[in-house]
Amino acid sequence: MKSREIRLAARPQGAPKDADFEVTEVEVDDPADGEVLVRNELMSVDPYMRGRMNDVRSYVPPFQLGEPLHGGVVGRVVASRDAGFAEGDWVLSDLGWREVARVEGSRLRKLDPDAAPLSTALGVLGMPGLTAYVGLLDIGEPKEGDTVFVSGAAGAVGSIAGQIAKLKGCRVIGSAGTPEKVAWLEELGFDVAFDYRQTPPREALRGEHVDVYFDNVGGDHLEAAIGAANQFARFVECGMISRYNDESPTPGPRNMPMVVTKRLKLQGFIVIDRRDRAPDFFRDMTQWVREGKVRYRETYVDGLENAPRAFMGLLAGDNIGKMLVRILNTA
Ligand code: NDP
Repeated sequence: MKSREIRLAARPQGAPKDADFEVTEVEVDDPADGEVLVRNELMSVDPYMRGRMNDVRSYVPPFQLGEPLHGGVVGRVVASRDAGFAEGDWVLSDLGWREVARVEGSRLRKLDPDAAPLSTALGVLGMPGLTAYVGLLDIGEPKEGDTVFVSGAAGAVGSIAGQIAKLKGCRVIGSAGTPEKVAWLEELGFDVAFDYRQTPPREALRGEHVDVYFDNVGGDHLEAAIGAANQFARFVECGMISRYNDESPTPGPRNMPMVVTKRLKLQGFIVIDRRDRAPDFFRDMTQWVREGKVRYRETYVDGLENAPRAFMGLLAGDNIGKMLVRILNTA
């Protein structure tokens, strides 16, 4: 079966550009024993993919030049030689960025389209939702009445982290990059929301006393949060997207000595280490979404060939909530 896929043509220098990607057509063989052929329908683009485009050692190996990219994707089984899967089943795999994937059944998770919209497996009920859940609850340890500051608050992870903090009885401050995003945060019940492009974080946080900082951004946001932190505040170091396109290391926060004097806890984490929390997460998040206590938004880009644009748009802030690509198969 023919399939188009997106390959990494060049390692991006700074912000990725069209020429760093190429679309190629390939022939996908029939599945062997234990394998399944999946027609991908909906794929995720995620900030971590930017790090994998660099040739550096990290917690996952880099993407290889000339090879197809990969990442979270929802698709439908078109042929199966694994007894656990039948034609027509909806599945989640990590072989996105292509129309058709030939994959071992053991790497697939079956999805029930009647239980929740399929897209949620890539967002609020998927990896970004779990990230918000374990980051905020296990590292942030929010207590009722705490002030929680979330940066990147209108994104997939941030919007969920902020809403969980509200559910736990906290006062929540969120930052985002456009007035439209700020308006959405207010709709979600954030107590304070500001546009960091209009008001620098240090100014916006003046007079605030932060107990938990959920950091998606790093840079000036991190420095401002250290400045506004209460003693013994917890810093959930989830991501530092303001640094991902840097071509050389930039200086860290200038006020690091306050980490000592304020007795701050800064802890990084990677969600794949916390799969043990998935059952609790599914139980709680499914219920919160069903009861309307956690709301989510998705931003769609159409066409596999536009997946690089979706990815570049994600880094530039084009998305509200989860950024997704509808593949619109030609295969
Ligand atoms: P988002 O949906 O939040 O999309 C990225 C957003 O980042 C953009 O919409 C943009 O929004 C914002 N952004 C981009 N550049 C800057 C900048 N210079 N300063 C401030 N904001 C910026 O992505 P995710 O929710 O998927 O990821 C959020 C963070 O969580 C990322 O840092 C990611 O790496 C991290 N993450 C970490 C995981 C872990 O295991 N530790 C797992 C998953 C995600 P805006 O318009 O507001 O600028």
